[in-house]
Amino acid sequence: MKMLIGGAWVDKKETIPVHRPYDGKVIDHIPAGTKEDVVKAIESAVEGFQVSKKMPVHKRMEILWGVVDYIRKNFEDFAKMIASEGSKTIREARKETARCMNTISVSAEEARRILGETIPFDSFPGGENRVGYYYRFPIGVIVAITPFNDPLNLVAHKLGPAIAAGNSVVLKPATDTPLSALKLGEAFLAAGLPPKVLNIITGRGSEIGDVLVSHPAVRMITLTGGVEAGVQILKRSGLKKISMELGSNCPVIVCEDADMSKAIDLSVSGAFWAVGQNCIGVQRMFIHEKVFDGYVKKFVEQTKAMKVGDQLDESTDMGAMINEREAKRVEEWVDDAVKQGGKILTGGKRNGNFYDPTVMVDVPENAKLAVEEVFGPVVLMYKYNDLDDAIKRSNSVNYGLHAAVFTQDINKAFKAVYELDFGSVIVNDSTDYRLDEMPFGGVKHSGLGREGIKFSLLEQTEPKVVCFNL
Ligand code: NAP
Repeated sequence: MKMLIGGAWVDKKETIPVHRPYDGKVIDHIPAGTKEDVVKAIESAVEGFQVSKKMPVHKRMEILWGVVDYIRKNFEDFAKMIASEGSKTIREARKETARCMNTISVSAEEARRILGETIPFDSFPGGENRVGYYYRFPIGVIVAITPFNDPLNLVAHKLGPAIAAGNSVVLKPATDTPLSALKLGEAFLAAGLPPKVLNIITGRGSEIGDVLVSHPAVRMITLTGGVEAGVQILKRSGLKKISMELGSNCPVIVCEDADMSKAIDLSVSGAFWAVGQNCIGVQRMFIHEKVFDGYVKKFVEQTKAMKVGDQLDESTDMGAMINEREAKRVEEWVDDAVKQGGKILTGGKRNGNFYDPTVMVDVPENAKLAVEEVFGPVVLMYKYNDLDDAIKRSNSVNYGLHAAVFTQDINKAFKAVYELDFGSVIVNDSTDYRLDEMPFGGVKHSGLGREGIKFSLLEQTEPKVVCFNL
């Protein structure tokens, strides 16, 4: 596929292959964008903003509804694209495609609710003759940088609100999974988005990232990605609005009174969804000692029953990791944890890009595997006997995106809600629950700001005060 600059699909002599993680087959090539291409894309977005900021709300809504229609008509193509270039199974990919339609639909709905307020200027002496209000206006050129693990819907989380607000965009999708993003770009053009409002640059972040994030015409950077990329970008961005959705290491607490089969079903799915390459995937489980043995036994049984294989096969439960480098990294972290006393109850084996769904116990809580974000199909089980202790251990990492608790006791649920230091606390589901319109984001190293359409719209617009002195 080609990249989108200035309203035209642009090719380059130098290209980057896009592989299918399942078998390593090259499924397409993308242009290796250069620093000069980045500058062209930003200059195009500067011109695009002159158009987008004047676009009436009904026109923006019409375009967004047009994108939803386009995806609906090409639903299976989008799903197959996700399952081919990425790690998701076809069933997981269909869910992502449906969620993308929801994200864009909600963006269309929220476009009409970018509201302001009147201001009571007479609330302070001297303001008696003043009258006024504020409204929200678009911020300008937004650079949106997205990761590989939800190659369509996380792009929609950037583009939907940006277009709803009247901004222009330079999008840089992950180099491993750029095709779904480019296909979404086709949907926006087909829906009538004026040329230059959306530009999509392909190429490696390590090569073109600096120019992209440091260009003075860019007014905001919105990144979804790892902490390392976030820190690099912050060092180079200069004075710009920043929004970052970064990594996590999510804990789940299972109390002795929990509905065990519900907790197991939902946590197995939450641990291995998208091969565990999921910022809200289940990584550490704290299980009450009274139910620990039975819980772990059933969890392992269900994990062993998962069918690992070709993502395009309808019966596959879990596919390959995004690339061999990532699978080897997970292997290294697991081996390191084993050297420190960790025991593998199932899994723990790599075959090329595949890493088996893995359940471990006795991993020291200061091992890399327990402290950092594993971003792979590995879940760690720990015993606890006191809820305070489980909460303390849950909070002990430097991340804070989602945490979960399974209990039938309202007091325990509320204790967890108040004391878990995370952006969301999910009760009686795993950490892997997200509705696209909820405020989504985390504390500590999990990010800056919140996504979720209404909340992205607040980040992607600025208030302007109007005050009449009568
Ligand atoms: P990544 O390596 O950080 O890459 C994310 C994006 O940033 C890619 O497009 C990448 O480009 C680009 N990038 C990397 N370094 C850059 C730089 N110096 N300047 C500009 N752009 C740069 O992350 P990933 O491996 O794709 O995704 C996994 C990470 O994303 C995990 O940590 C996960 O938790 C996080 N994530 C967070 C959320 C959330 O909502 N909180 C959701 C999903 C994923 P290239 O691909 O060209 O390197």
